[in-house]
Parts: sequence; C-alpha cells; structure tokens
Amino acid sequence: MTILPISSTNQKTDLLALSLPQLQQWLVERGEAAFRAKQLYQWLYKRLVTDFAAMHTLPPTLRQQLAAEATIGPMIVRSEQHSKDDRTRKILLELVDGKLIESVLMLYPALGESSARATVCVSSQAGCAFGCTFCATGQMGFARHLSAGEIVAQVLHFARELQAASWRAAGLPGSDPIDHITNIVLMGMGEPLHNYDNVLQALRILNSPDGFNLGARHMTVSTVGLVPAIRKLSQEHLQVNLAISLHAPTDALRSQTMPVNRKYPISELIAACQDYIAVTGRLTRTSLAICSPRSNSLRMSTASPSMPLRQATIRPVPMPYEHSVPFYVSMA
Ligand code: SF4
Repeated sequence: MTILPISSTNQKTDLLALSLPQLQQWLVERGEAAFRAKQLYQWLYKRLVTDFAAMHTLPPTLRQQLAAEATIGPMIVRSEQHSKDDRTRKILLELVDGKLIESVLMLYPALGESSARATVCVSSQAGCAFGCTFCATGQMGFARHLSAGEIVAQVLHFARELQAASWRAAGLPGSDPIDHITNIVLMGMGEPLHNYDNVLQALRILNSPDGFNLGARHMTVSTVGLVPAIRKLSQEHLQVNLAISLHAPTDALRSQTMPVNRKYPISELIAACQDYIAVTGRLTRTSLAICSPRSNSLRMSTASPSMPLRQATIRPVPMPYEHSVPFYVSMA
C-alpha cells in the first residue's frame, strides 16, 4: 500500500463530506454543469473508486481539476486485525491531523429468515468528552469531532473491501456471499449525538438514493442519552434506529460510572425515548441496552421505554471495542 503524505491533502475539499446538492454547487462554482455531480456521486458511492483518473465518464479536464482540488476521504489504514473466523475485522485509521480512530466490520451469515449482514461499527469522534469510567475512549478525553467525510469514509473503506472480495461464512456451504454493507452502527469511538451536525450529514449522505443508498432503518445511532439531542433527532424525518447505553438500572448506580446521568437521569431519558418512538414510529428498532461491568450475573435489572425497570435475561454477544462491556440486552 502506498502511504501518501497525508498532511498535503489538508487544503483540498473532501468530497465525502458533501451532500449531492452541495457537490452540485461545488462543481457549478468551478464552471462545471450540475449534472456532473450525479456522475461523480455514482463513482464515489456505487463504483467506490478512489482514483479520479478512473472516472472515465467525466471530462479529462474535470478529472484533473478534481485531483488538484479534492480528495476522497483521506485517511491511512495503520493496522487491520481479523478474527480467526474472519467475521470481525478491526482497522486503526490515521486521520489527516494524525488522530487515530477505530472502525469494525462485523459479518453475519444468513440465519433462518434473516439474510446475511455486513455491519460497520463507526467512530464519530476522536476521543470522547463523556468520561464513562469503564470506557478506554472516555479515559482518553476529547480530541475533536470527526467530519462527515471522515465518518462516511469508514463505511466506504469496508464497502470497497467487500466489493473486492465478497465474504461467505466458512463451513456454511451454499450460503450466499455478501459483497456490500447492509448496516451501520454509530457505536465506535465517541458519542455520536455530541457531534450531531456531522453525524446527521454523514447519515444523509449514506442514505442518498443517488449514492450509497443505505436505508435509514439500517442505521443505528447509539447514545449514552443526550436527551435534547434525542428529541432533536426525532424531528429529522430520518427513521434511524436509536440504541441507548444504559449500563445500570438506577440513577445512583448509573451516575457512578456515567457522569452524563447526573445531567439527564434515567426518567428523563426514558421519556425522551418514548417520545422518539411516538414521533418516528421506530418502536421495534428502538432499544435500551444495559451492560453491567460490575455483574457477572446473567440476570439483572433492565428497562424499556414502555416498561418500568424489571428483570431480564442477559444475552452475551461479542462487542467490538475495548470499552464495551461483555453483556448486551436489547428490549426491542
Ligand atoms: S462509552 Fe461512549 S459516551 Fe461513554 S466515554 Fe465511551 S465513547 Fe464516550
């Protein structure tokens, strides 16, 4: 792999940060026809190319101008780890300013009536300001928000990987290979609703039918519970799923490990989730998760928007990040 001097790309426009109307405007300002934007979007999000020279439907002069003035999600893959069964792939990415973030691809074979899935767990910030005590990212402190382009680029990295080599579950002969991303979860480094505008821009870009065309119902935003942002998200007319990292069943317990709970206690959080469900109609996709770093028990208290705190069985699942704790409960 060629490693570019990434600092030299700083002054260029990252095309992955632009919506289609913004890309049209960017091209028109440079004397190009607006319809070129759709062509360019096709190259970026359907053909998934990273080299302007390969965009042969664009005039050579435009390709040269793009190479001089624009980039396509500049970041360097510093390392990549695959699980033994190749169902989980984690990458360490260096951003233009040297900040490091992680992204994970999780692959699931078809099971029963559900088809195969390829889910990207995306980071939304370098570091995090929320300081959850069980979380390695939280202990790093906050560095900066990721741009919309940096969020989109994480998804496209794995999309290109699957496009180049589709995945089929080993030991499952006859299972369909999967060659595209089916879902994203904003559950990586950072609190996505703290980086609200860039996250929303990235989700809309990935949702665009002229581009990547990933349905909003295949996107999940995970939050520690920023109540005003949850309420704002419900008004966006974008039916993304919402996952709440609750982690503890009482305010007293939750505030010990999640400082955000002192500002937005559980009752306010649940009320916001109920309103989110009422406005978006996303009842079945909205879930509350409680993960207990303190309990080895497979039964503990949990909550859902429509039910008071109660007992539930904990289902252990693999979690992609070091700050994830080993149990996950979905009340969907
Ligand atoms: S769990 Fe999420 S919100 Fe809490 S510190 Fe870690 S990244 Fe930030």
